[in-house]
Amino acid sequence: MLAIEKVRKVFGATTVLDGVELVVEPGEVVSILGSSGSGKSTLIRCINGLERLDGGRITVDGFNVSKPRELAEARKRSGTVFQLFNLYPHMTAVGNVMLAPVEVLKLPKKEAEARARRILDSVGLGPRADAYPAQLSGGQRQRVGLARALAMEPRYLLLDEVTSALDPEMTAEVLGILAELARSGTTMLFVTHEIEFARRISNRIVFLDGGRLVVDLPTAAFFSAAGGMAHPRIAQFLSKMQ
Ligand code: ATP
Ligand code: MG
Repeated sequence: MLAIEKVRKVFGATTVLDGVELVVEPGEVVSILGSSGSGKSTLIRCINGLERLDGGRITVDGFNVSKPRELAEARKRSGTVFQLFNLYPHMTAVGNVMLAPVEVLKLPKKEAEARARRILDSVGLGPRADAYPAQLSGGQRQRVGLARALAMEPRYLLLDEVTSALDPEMTAEVLGILAELARSGTTMLFVTHEIEFARRISNRIVFLDGGRLVVDLPTAAFFSAAGGMAHPRIAQFLSKMQ
């Protein structure tokens, strides 16, 4: 279980996360929607231990990300993919994907390489496994980013606008893989502006507004007139996204 309890995060005089509560159970796909600046990326960075909390608690299968001794265990359980690809340019796709399994999980190189090639194959990049990032399209690079997270066999996959730097065709490529992962039972916390896609794959949708998590509803209820749409901020947000 990924448990976010009363989380507070402050930058200077601005409260960016204000008492956020969210639980993600294994097997769930939960999408986070919200306007620009509502705190979505900050929340993902807090789960990953990239930001220090100013209040509350985040645990990943019981490991507290704010405790230095527990952070490594928490991080092993959650893989994060960001909007920008952040691949090492001097390493091939397979080199990028096998790096963390070798360095962090201490897998023997041969085993890590076999795993990397298998996962690259599963995201449709088998034939491009030995290419360098500069030789790949944006969609292919993002699929390498996804493969790199999957190579750690995370129990929770955190995705922060992984398609927002991609054109529609490449977006479709990456979303197709995410849909497959969702179908196969991968637990995902998914920040996105792809509302229709979120609607298709999510069990639940949560809405952040000015650092507060104002709604946490099963997907159908979120889009119903009496549910999420009854909140003026959500109705306004969704109408702008059409
Ligand atoms: P977007 O949809 O544009 O990606 P977001 O919901 O991901 O937005 P965040 O990136 O989490 O929003 O930012 C939330 C707020 O925190 C914003 O007002 C932002 O300016 C502020 N913020 C984020 N990181 C920092 C930082 N390192 N220092 C100061 N303020 C920050
Ligand atoms: Mg963001």
